[in-house]
Amino acid sequence: MVDLQAQHDRLQPELNNAIADVIRTAKYINGPQVAEFAANLSAYLNTPYVIPCANGTDALQIAMMALNLQPGDEVILPAFTYVATAEVIALLKLKPVLVDVNEDDFLINPSLIEAAITAKTKAIVPVHLFGQCADMETIMGIAHKHQLAVIEDTAQAIGAIYTFADGSRKRAGTIGHIGCTSFFPSKNLGCAGDGGAMFTSDESLAKRLKMIANHGQNIQYHHDDIGVNSRLDTIQAAILNIKLKHLDAYEQARNLVADAYDKAFHQHPNYVIPARVKQSSHVFHQYTLKCKGINRDNLRAFLQQHQIPSMVYYPIPLHHQKAYANDVVISGSLSITEKLCSEVISLPMSPEVTAEQIEYIIAQLKTFTSQNLNN
Ligand SMILES: *Cc1c(COP(=O)(O)O)cnc(C)c1O
Repeated sequence: MVDLQAQHDRLQPELNNAIADVIRTAKYINGPQVAEFAANLSAYLNTPYVIPCANGTDALQIAMMALNLQPGDEVILPAFTYVATAEVIALLKLKPVLVDVNEDDFLINPSLIEAAITAKTKAIVPVHLFGQCADMETIMGIAHKHQLAVIEDTAQAIGAIYTFADGSRKRAGTIGHIGCTSFFPSKNLGCAGDGGAMFTSDESLAKRLKMIANHGQNIQYHHDDIGVNSRLDTIQAAILNIKLKHLDAYEQARNLVADAYDKAFHQHPNYVIPARVKQSSHVFHQYTLKCKGINRDNLRAFLQQHQIPSMVYYPIPLHHQKAYANDVVISGSLSITEKLCSEVISLPMSPEVTAEQIEYIIAQLKTFTSQNLNN
């Protein structure tokens, strides 16, 4: 789905030097590259505090711990998301409350949020799924009215730019109280292993996030809170310092791939292209079509026969997962989520997909429907 070898080939000498530096200086934990990366990302995002951590799932968990959420508190999230979003909520004995998404853009439907709010609701976790921002202006309005915290899961949308009604702009993850992201290798800004970060513009929250990620201590061996151990390795920070400089170029390249797919499939009877929302730029972590009137499994098998990878994000909704079926609150109907789980297919998407590859992928998808290879 993502050609990481091609991406890293171009950066190889620079990456090798950066890694060798870390090995030579032996500052594997909290070396200077970690603080340097936090400062670079803070400048890129235009937000004052960036706290690196070990992965995106930890980022979400530490965010909820920093907000002092208590067992039984309810947290609203979209039903159509990666399991990590719900996992940390359940792990902390909070109640995940699932709300349905929009059919055209896959993002949480803000008009369903207020109906899900109870006296126990403490937070909303919008997920900027596939690379564009949820309707943050509406969500922040609801959160303000009901005094709820907002944790943005921006693991798939780092760099996306949100435009408010008044024309002002902010990067994904810097609108809510805390933003959480992942540097998993296949994410838009990926390292060579696991990594993550939290962002905030609130100084006291920044202190808590940092303290909790560091065993609940501000001063060594003085533990004010029960924390976790969650650090970004120096080697990963060194790699991210190099790759961050290319993030905007990667995004542009991804958009060219998406434009080509859009052009090929708009108004196609069997493939529905993903809607682009007005309020946000799209960084196309995934390019996801909906299949209509065709058998998705057969399509995937056909693509595989022709050496084209494809993925289904996500095949089973959270409320049908064994681990979560009894532990989530379902707010209203989740019929759109259920439908999407049976229709979506994500195509190869990375800055390195070549024009020839795009042409070949498009041709094969069209062959599948035109030759009625469906059954
Ligand atoms: C990848 C991802 C995460 C988790 O990130 P990890 O670094 O793999 O822990 C959380 N939420 C979403 C939406 C993701 O795509």
